Amino acid sequence: MPENHNHVTVNVGKKDDLDAKGCGIALLAVLLISGLFLLFVHPAVGIVMLVVVGVSVYLMVRGQRKHERRVAELRALTARKDARRAELEGLATVGPTGVCGFCGALEQHRDGYGVPFYPRAWHQGDIDRPVAELT
Ligand SMILES: [Zn+2]
Repeated sequence: MPENHNHVTVNVGKKDDLDAKGCGIALLAVLLISGLFLLFVHPAVGIVMLVVVGVSVYLMVRGQRKHERRVAELRALTARKDARRAELEGLATVGPTGVCGFCGALEQHRDGYGVPFYPRAWHQGDIDRPVAELT
């Protein structure tokens, strides 16, 4: 049985990612509180810390949005590939008149040794190729 390699697996919010994100947020919170405290004791150091916290938060939010956009794109691509595959596999059947729905052959598909094939198995490459080319 042919394997289907056209599906895209997307892992979102794995536990390790969440732990790392939680540590990053906790570190930023500590730096923010320290920066606010240092603002009164050593204003220059406090300002630098607050700028570092601000830039870090900006970069985190930007990275998260970029990741979410990429995940949405991959899910849409997977949906398009699934729909196209279903459409092509729906064609690769024998109709009520005995004609192959994919290519219109009047006789059953047979290999060089006379072994018969179902239309879907015979046209598997013709189905896989256009699905894999979708981007
Ligand atoms: Zn055919």
